[in-house]
Amino acid sequence: MNDRLLIIEDNEQNLYMMRFLLERNGFTIIGAEDGRTGIEMALTCRPLAILLDIQLPGMDGYAVAAELKKHSELAMVPIIAVTSYAMVGDRENILAAGATGYIEKPINPETFVEEIMHYLPNNRETPV
Ligand code: MN
Repeated sequence: MNDRLLIIEDNEQNLYMMRFLLERNGFTIIGAEDGRTGIEMALTCRPLAILLDIQLPGMDGYAVAAELKKHSELAMVPIIAVTSYAMVGDRENILAAGATGYIEKPINPETFVEEIMHYLPNNRETPV
């Protein structure tokens, strides 16, 4: 069963917390600290979904989402934006860039995993 989630997040503490919560629920976490590495990981590791920070050094989350969407083999992989941006329009912008959904930071440890599950494909048994 594919239980791999890719988290593209440059903040070590945020990555640690998301990894902790998701691993506790049976997921295997692949972490990437910048967009370029994240795109490479997405193509080689074929995750079930991609959690994407928007504020990243160099290539930002909008550019990463747009790049990921250019690869047809990733077309079915949901991208969940995780961002502290609270400006009007950001949600629309990240969805326009190709994200499936949007979770705001700071994440709520009580509901975070449930929120992520909401965006995952229904049949997790399907081999990728
Ligand atoms: Mn960041």
